[in-house]
Amino acid sequence: MSARILLLGGTTEALRLARRLGPTAIYSLAGLGRVPDDLSCQVRVGGFGGAEGLAGFIREQGIELLLDLTHPYAAQISANAARAAQLAGIACWALRRPGWQAAAADDWREVDDWAGLVAALNGFRRPLFTLGREPLEHLHEIPPHQHWTVRCLQGQEAVPHAEIIGARGPFELNEERALFARLRSDVLISKNSGSQATEPKLQVARELGLPVLLLRRPSLPAVEREFVSLDDLCEALPL
Ligand code: NAP
Repeated sequence: MSARILLLGGTTEALRLARRLGPTAIYSLAGLGRVPDDLSCQVRVGGFGGAEGLAGFIREQGIELLLDLTHPYAAQISANAARAAQLAGIACWALRRPGWQAAAADDWREVDDWAGLVAALNGFRRPLFTLGREPLEHLHEIPPHQHWTVRCLQGQEAVPHAEIIGARGPFELNEERALFARLRSDVLISKNSGSQATEPKLQVARELGLPVLLLRRPSLPAVEREFVSLDDLCEALPL
């Protein structure tokens, strides 16, 4: 059996799967990152216009199976995927990557949102933000006793009290060690993405005894089948 697949991407795993799909499958990206041009499957870029738009696309294209391999913090598209599959009467399968787990000696503190994060940061001087672009909207709010480093996909010029580093994972352990040493960071801020590609920073925080502030994971909808690893999902796929 082979089904016409729509793969929602934006993660390393999604790209790995897209590389295995044939020309009847469609790989969909939001358009924030790189768009590969060396795939056998079709590639489309940009939003669908909510759950209804996605359901319409599924019907028009004769999609038989929707695969949600988006990032664990991309809650909107995952909610849209579950709803659209229902509306269109097809199955949605999702890769739900497990979060990282703290080791015994780790000092990990979970925060709910930006306000919670700012409050939790109050006692620190040199935070290293590795949770995307959100801190860039708050550069004018940096307290006088803090110097921020923001690592996100696209760098930009430094501003008073902040350095903005553009970098894309995977990150190597030794490079992360060197970064923490150069910055003299006293706290790490991250999403709990569970990705191996960005895990070395947690090892460095552990080695240095630094606290880690983790933005709480959003809740994601239940779908027909959920997988914790790409291998399990691939094994079940009707390719
Ligand atoms: P989001 O808030 O869940 O989605 C915002 C909107 O972007 C969606 O409603 C949808 O627009 C569009 N969209 C998202 N993923 C899409 C896809 N694969 N194909 C077509 N349209 C898509 O997502 P986000 O947090 O902004 O993340 C955007 C993309 O970056 C996601 O694909 C995600 O996998 C990837 N990403 C996110 C993070 C993160 O931390 N959030 C990290 C790494 C990668 P319409 O409603 O118009 O369809």
